[in-house]
Amino acid sequence: MAETQSERKTLEQRQQMTDLERLRHSAAHVLATAILEIWPQAQFAAGPPVENGFYYDLDLDHRITPDDFPKIEEAMKRITKANQPFERIVVSREEALELGRKGRLSALSERPEPSRFKLDIVEGIPEGEEISLYKNGEFIDLCAGPHVMRTRNIGAFKLTHVASAYYKGDERNPQLQRVYGTAFKNKTELDAYFTMLEEAKKRDHRKLGKELELFTFDDDVGPGLPLWLPRGTVLIEELERLAKETEFAAGYERVRTPHLARENMYLTSGHLPYYADSMFPPMVLPDEHGAQRDEKERNQLREDAPKGEVAGYDDAQVDRLFEEVEKLIAARPADRYYLKAMNCPHHHKIFGAVPRSYRDLPLRLAEYGTCYRYEQSGELLGLMRVRSMQMNDAHIYCTEEQFEEEFNAVNAMYLKYFKIFGLEKYRMRFSTHDPAKLGQKYVNEPELWLKTEEMVRRVLIRSGIDYVEVPDEGAFYGPKIDVQVWSAIGREFTIATNQVDFAVPRRFGLVYRDRDNTEKTPLCIHRAPLGTHERFIAFLIEHYAANFPLWLSPVQVRILPIGTEEPLVDYAKEIQAELRAAGVRAELDATSDNIKGKVLHAEQAKVHTMLVLGHRDLEAGAVSVRVHGKGNLGARPRGEVVADLLAAIRERRP
Ligand SMILES: [Zn+2]
Ligand SMILES: [Zn+2]
Repeated sequence: MAETQSERKTLEQRQQMTDLERLRHSAAHVLATAILEIWPQAQFAAGPPVENGFYYDLDLDHRITPDDFPKIEEAMKRITKANQPFERIVVSREEALELGRKGRLSALSERPEPSRFKLDIVEGIPEGEEISLYKNGEFIDLCAGPHVMRTRNIGAFKLTHVASAYYKGDERNPQLQRVYGTAFKNKTELDAYFTMLEEAKKRDHRKLGKELELFTFDDDVGPGLPLWLPRGTVLIEELERLAKETEFAAGYERVRTPHLARENMYLTSGHLPYYADSMFPPMVLPDEHGAQRDEKERNQLREDAPKGEVAGYDDAQVDRLFEEVEKLIAARPADRYYLKAMNCPHHHKIFGAVPRSYRDLPLRLAEYGTCYRYEQSGELLGLMRVRSMQMNDAHIYCTEEQFEEEFNAVNAMYLKYFKIFGLEKYRMRFSTHDPAKLGQKYVNEPELWLKTEEMVRRVLIRSGIDYVEVPDEGAFYGPKIDVQVWSAIGREFTIATNQVDFAVPRRFGLVYRDRDNTEKTPLCIHRAPLGTHERFIAFLIEHYAANFPLWLSPVQVRILPIGTEEPLVDYAKEIQAELRAAGVRAELDATSDNIKGKVLHAEQAKVHTMLVLGHRDLEAGAVSVRVHGKGNLGARPRGEVVADLLAAIRERRP
């Protein structure tokens, strides 16, 4: 998804390209140059920078494999050493087409075959937009840029893998080879990246999740539908406890909503028809209760539906989508239910269930809600991409005057969580609107956009949070913040979003009675600081290498008596009972293994604290403490150790 988006960047987005993206995109040009030196007939399509590097899509009879990489990389090295300048040439549409017809685009010279994908791309460039070429050595590419100055600015690069991809991501188009690589300013950074990947492999949540029995998948249950084993469930419950305590203190109220709802609700929310592809297909029931809206209401919905650039649907396509709905209705009057893809509409209904006055605001409704999304099976990836997810969701309904304070409080909550999880590096990506696209891509509320964006900006600046502002990437309903965090090994994850919404409350007819006795529509803040359990736990497993802090550890304490003699085992049982009564997840290893074996097993299971008990401990009323990853910490009085454990858990010490 992210990759198809980056294939067609807007001019503004191109100007926003980071130095690293410029460098990587330039490396893609060098890759194409190198491939053409070896296979001059290659036909190139798109070659954008992506999250961790770059790729170039090409059509070529020869199937490129990693065996070809040394040869290609050698040619790339020659080209970067030659330090060719990247030269920008502006051409007319006709000139670009002419070059394409002569096979001169993405090529080292004119060729018998036209540059067919580039021709197609030229034809897709909107009238009036400048068309530019970039030239390095003999290689000329159709490209809007930007690039680095010279090929030697690409400090260090490496090809990584080859995949296949359809032209423009559409399976009706030809299948191309996608050659991936990455590039950095220098070799030190390149090496650090691959070291990080090695470490990430060791910390892979799928591998550790299996070894530590945290979660599993089963074909009979279905792909992308995780089953949480007892130890993984502990992680979930601890996170929920943290969220519930934090939200309660911040004045949130908890609600519970069902996992499905009628079609009508999703038509009102706008999920249908725009989001239909990402939702599970409907469950069709006979229409016993006249659940379908009448034609007049449906026509009204159609009239009110957001069009234009929303999710890339033009008016004609929106009409066609609604035609399909009409056909379904005509074929069989039915009551259709959908699994919920988002919690918001349910929460809006709760807001609307009771008459609200300004005294009720801000109203903060929270739920760890389970949502279902129909991700393509090829996109599923362990816990990172799933079809059922439990979200740390809440919706804050407030007045414009309350907005800034509420937004600030949400930010403070993020910071509190970052501290608990020892996240040192994080950034907020603040996506705003483009005034030129009001009424199409963005809900037509020019003043509210400016006002809320200004308030969000103020909060971000005041809180000192590192943030970047990205124009023209806001949601249809309001400005949006994506929270990016870096794990302990320096890998980036997007875990949470935070969104302002000034359109949907109106679609749902949500109102409150204000001081002056008029009805007003509240603003809504969507926020999910801990994201979904699935994604957040995948992140935490990598971040901690599954060596969770005591409060979060599936097994917090294991008691290891040295021997099986009764008084010693009784002493162990007594300590276990004391700890469990205080809510500590304490286990007892009463097997006949020797102490070395017991310690080894506990270490392998990543048990946080081991309490080793020998006869001397029994006599002294002491325990010998051993902490995973820290080794033996020596013997201390039992009461002191227990009190310490309880305090560390209560304070959620890192
Ligand atoms: Zn380019
Ligand atoms: Zn929401």
